[in-house]
Amino acid sequence: ERSTRTSALTGAGMMADGTLVPLLANLGSAAAAADAVAKGAEGVGLFRTEFLFLDQAEAPTVEAQQAEYTALLSAFAGRKVVVRALDAGADKPLSFLNDAAEENPALGLRGLRALRANEQILRDQLTALANAAAVTDADLWVMAPMVSTVEETRYFTALGRELGLQTLGVMVEVPSAALLADRILADADFASIGTNDLTQYTLAADRLLGSVAAFQDPWHPAVLRLVGEVGRAGAALGKPVGVCGEAAADPLLAVVLVGLGVTSLSMSPAALADVRGELALYSLEQAQQFAAVALAANSAFEAKAAVVEALSDSP
Ligand code: PEP
Ligand code: MG
Repeated sequence: ERSTRTSALTGAGMMADGTLVPLLANLGSAAAAADAVAKGAEGVGLFRTEFLFLDQAEAPTVEAQQAEYTALLSAFAGRKVVVRALDAGADKPLSFLNDAAEENPALGLRGLRALRANEQILRDQLTALANAAAVTDADLWVMAPMVSTVEETRYFTALGRELGLQTLGVMVEVPSAALLADRILADADFASIGTNDLTQYTLAADRLLGSVAAFQDPWHPAVLRLVGEVGRAGAALGKPVGVCGEAAADPLLAVVLVGLGVTSLSMSPAALADVRGELALYSLEQAQQFAAVALAANSAFEAKAAVVEALSDSP
């Protein structure tokens, strides 16, 4: 019954059958941590580090980064904190890292590709993170943005381990990574699906371009099928699969994502209470039924409508 929606602001994300789904926060600075905790975040699922690098002539020092990461980890003592390595390029260009002359920057040297071309910046960032982890007791996980191959996964996880980090994963936001999730998760400790970019690349529609905004809908069955690939691979290998794109903040879509095998959801703190309330209404088995219904649709619109109909029929 939708009227039984719980309004608990805090507490662990839990489905009606007791299945736990950690609800985490997307943060852009350590200063935002206290608000996220107050809104019930169980940890951090995406710490975007771009702000440290924006409006700078060059990359910040190891010491400057370490101070920020230490502040973040201290705010989440004993909890999981997923930090993303710098994701520069495309919608987040940096003058000292990206080539402004690229004609298609979303398909260019962005994310991990740009870091590899400037490896010292990546080494410094991973070193700062390892140093911060050593003086705090949060559970630090570090992931790379815009990974598109198994080889990039191996490169990133090996470098992270060399620099003292323990839990290393990748973002799945390119269709190639979703399609090879079983191979990628053989090398990575976890995956986090970025549905904003995954939708952009799956539908071939620039996420910043208003004229194609209608394509930027993560309810699209093509996107959901890719999410399901990653969920299946994670379940088979016993590796966690999160979602940290905007899709996780849509309460009904969050239920569908869990039904596709996603094991944690990360979102803007303002969305946590509604997602927590919606998840509590359904069992994992119901979520799996809704996922099957959504996958069988032909469009984003039909997928959502079919799930809304299915849940009004469900006990
Ligand atoms: C995403 O692509 O879904 C994501 C979470 O990363 P960003 O929005 O920062 O590109
Ligand atoms: Mg992204």
